[in-house]
Amino acid sequence: MEAKLDRKDSVTIYKFKKLIKELESKEGRGTELISIYIPPNKPISDIISYLRQEYATAANIKSKSTRKNVQDAIESAIQRLKLFNRAGPTGLVVFSGAVPQNGGVGNEKIEVYHIIPPEPINLLLYRCDSKFYLDPLKELLREKDVYGVLVIDNEEAAVAVLRGRKIIESKTFTSGVPGKHRAGGQSQRRFERLRQMNLNDYYKRVAAHANEIFLKYPEMKGIIVAGPGPTKEIFVEKGYLHYTFRDKIHLVDTSYSGEEGIREAVKRAENFLKDLRMVEEQKLVRKLMQEITKENPRIVYGDKEVLRALRSGMIDTLLLSEDLGKYRIKIKCSNCGAEKEYVMTEEEKVSKLPEILAKPCEKCGQKTLEVVEEKSLVDFYIEEAEKAGTKVELISSEHEEGAMLKNAFGGAAGFLKGYGG
Ligand SMILES: [Zn+2]
Repeated sequence: MEAKLDRKDSVTIYKFKKLIKELESKEGRGTELISIYIPPNKPISDIISYLRQEYATAANIKSKSTRKNVQDAIESAIQRLKLFNRAGPTGLVVFSGAVPQNGGVGNEKIEVYHIIPPEPINLLLYRCDSKFYLDPLKELLREKDVYGVLVIDNEEAAVAVLRGRKIIESKTFTSGVPGKHRAGGQSQRRFERLRQMNLNDYYKRVAAHANEIFLKYPEMKGIIVAGPGPTKEIFVEKGYLHYTFRDKIHLVDTSYSGEEGIREAVKRAENFLKDLRMVEEQKLVRKLMQEITKENPRIVYGDKEVLRALRSGMIDTLLLSEDLGKYRIKIKCSNCGAEKEYVMTEEEKVSKLPEILAKPCEKCGQKTLEVVEEKSLVDFYIEEAEKAGTKVELISSEHEEGAMLKNAFGGAAGFLKGYGG
């Protein structure tokens, strides 16, 4: 199984999370599941000879069934590893183990997975446990977006670049500009004019350095401009920062400026990044609302309509509620082969499905209907969209707009090609 983690792509993240969740749900009967992490570029032959030793050691396991399961798991892992010569530039992860099928004892089946990490995992590890060891993979899911922070008041300023919560570069400044109270001997007006000039120079100096630092990171997602007073607003309004940053700036009140202010802003960073995605999602749903008020709205919603448009390649972007809670169920007649598709909620699966299955087939009249496929509707839509080359945006329903997509549009709505014109 290969995965590439593009954080801008909500579907990729969804799939990676799902894979981890699936692996997390597997549990051996004893300590029978093995996890192997291989660091980048490591020759696989080294790992295989290590596993041969583990195989020999496993011969000492007392329980006969555990011994067999562990040795089978190691053997299967070795077979899988033989597909590779050495680990790739991001390393290689293999999970292998006897997983009970349908809960039955003695009903275990060896399952093997290999994952090429989307980002380097520099870890050499062999572990045998009752569960697969997934922490290093989960770690990859944590926010690692790059963003800038600039904290400023009239006395001091600090500029920093963060990846996730980690500061990767920072610089501090002092203004050297005295406060509003003048030194004796000067006229108030002259003093104020000089002060403004000096402040202006200070802003320019901070901005020049900030621009220089921030421009080094074109992947920068956003810039937090923070500080305790009105200076930050002035700084932004007067356009000291590079024009390309204009849409990325978010103003935040902090109690401190300078380095202490950076630390304060870092604490808020996690929410800030979550908010960024939320704002994107809200914009998409609002665009949908806007389109629907037009005379000929170029949108489609409702399960049947969305699916039809999707399959005929008419959808530009599909908005999908992350927690749709619906299933697509395919029913087939085992006698004549007639097929029918249904979309059902969790409740309907209990209340409606048995009724449908008990009815005679519409085509041949035999009572031989059975479920041949069941899939979460979100996964089904994602697959169909991939076939059609359509972009999917997963939308959380934790915000008002997201709830609206779920409740008013049934959780799936598409912008048709040529919308917004
Ligand atoms: Zn039939």
